[in-house]
Amino acid sequence: MIAIDSLVKSYSGRTVINGISVTFERGHVSAIFGPSGSGKSTLLRCINGLEKFDGGSITVGDLKLLPKMKPADERALLLKVRLKAGMVFQHFGLFAHMTALENVMEAPVHVRGVDKGEARDKAAALLEKVGLSHRKNAYPRELSGGEQQRVAIARALAMEPEALLLDEPTSALDPERKVEVANVLAQLAKEGATMIVVTHEPAIVRSICDRAIVLANGKIEKQGSPADVLDH
Ligand code: ADP
Ligand code: MG
Repeated sequence: MIAIDSLVKSYSGRTVINGISVTFERGHVSAIFGPSGSGKSTLLRCINGLEKFDGGSITVGDLKLLPKMKPADERALLLKVRLKAGMVFQHFGLFAHMTALENVMEAPVHVRGVDKGEARDKAAALLEKVGLSHRKNAYPRELSGGEQQRVAIARALAMEPEALLLDEPTSALDPERKVEVANVLAQLAKEGATMIVVTHEPAIVRSICDRAIVLANGKIEKQGSPADVLDH
């Protein structure tokens, strides 16, 4: 579903991804971990079209991103890539002035042009799925970190992405809240979701992921089954 070939990415001449090739299969869950600054977030952002890159290619479904694209093609392509690959961030990134329900409805209505009533019903169903139907009219500041992150996951799912990219989704949360979010990820994995999750939580890697990938210095240092990688 996602294929990365010889990816190179630099920031002002400093190479942070230095030739990564890896594929992500539909229905599989991959964990990425590695030291701070090893390029994990940059890799997810490149896959999602949030960052341009300098070499190699990224294929998401039938869409191919290259370092140099015609500006006219690029905009349309990036929009399509973002619809295919939904992103969830460490610090949730919810709209502060909107309720949980409104946050989840926002993109379907404004990006996809879905009818409001339909978007509201679907948002309510997604909030129920992440265990938050009772909090749907709450604003982000009235929600715990774990609740906010579950709203953020529902918001990403509302666009029906083919893959979900999660960048340290539990690292800003205290232990009980981590479990709530991990349970949602476990449920999605069971339903066959394709996910790439940057995480340092051994419990998430072992119990939810099919594969673990270790990044170091902009390269893949090791990849294999979670047990193999964690035990070594
Ligand atoms: P990780 O998520 O593994 O901690 P990042 O992908 O965020 O690492 O960052 C990789 C390297 O790229 C770091 O050295 C970081 O400082 C640098 N970097 C990240 N984003 C930018 C940016 N927008 N401009 C310049 N340097 C950046
Ligand atoms: Mg990061």
